[in-house]
Amino acid sequence: MPAATDPPAAGAAADPIVAALADLRREAEACERCLLADTRTRVVFGEGDPHADLMFVGEAPGYHEDQQGRPFVGQAGKLLEQLLATIGLTREQVYIANVLKSRPPNNRDPRPEEIEACEPFLLRQIELIAPRVICTLGNFSTKLLSGSQTGITRVHGIPQRTTIASRDLYLYPIFHPAAALYTPAMLATLKEDVLRLPEVLGLPLAGDDGAGDDGAVDAAAPEAPAGPSTVGPFAAPQGGPAEQLGLF
Ligand code: URA
Repeated sequence: MPAATDPPAAGAAADPIVAALADLRREAEACERCLLADTRTRVVFGEGDPHADLMFVGEAPGYHEDQQGRPFVGQAGKLLEQLLATIGLTREQVYIANVLKSRPPNNRDPRPEEIEACEPFLLRQIELIAPRVICTLGNFSTKLLSGSQTGITRVHGIPQRTTIASRDLYLYPIFHPAAALYTPAMLATLKEDVLRLPEVLGLPLAGDDGAGDDGAVDAAAPEAPAGPSTVGPFAAPQGGPAEQLGLF
């Protein structure tokens, strides 16, 4: 896996998506739009296949991510890699990013003004990568990208067709691996939700040959997401008191 500062691989300059992501990374690395610029060690821009069908969006870098400048390299990242392996994928085959590109001190929750300052980077990443499915990990990315305050406990495992940054895609919220590390029941649910990802990746989108629409009412929002529609034969939402906690 290349480090965040590695030069582009040979041929990469010919790929406009790779070049645009590199420009955006440089912009993020110089960003001082919020106070996290004063306390971070490294900007954690994101990494993976710039043409991935599947993108993961977590919350914010933790200690190890801040040290290395790479997303999900700690315990939660190991679990994410194990989950990916259950569906035959590696982290190099997906794209992994976060809502915040800088670590909040002591891993506190992201603040609204930090999320707002960082959001343009995430939206541009989504526009450039144009994934079929964005798997949001936990509450912060789910609420931001769904445009809804409904918590992850209610919406996990249910694909929502939506438009984000002009891209027709499915949002597929799942529990955050960091939360599941310490809660066996949540881990079991997370595994089940991940096992359904191949099915979600196969759901129809507007640009597909011969499969224009699944009949769901689409919510179109050119930049920010709004009011997605839920899709298909997926389970009804589940609720619970754990929703009130930060990560899930
Ligand atoms: N948790 C996150 O949300 N993101 C990371 O990169 C690591 C842990």
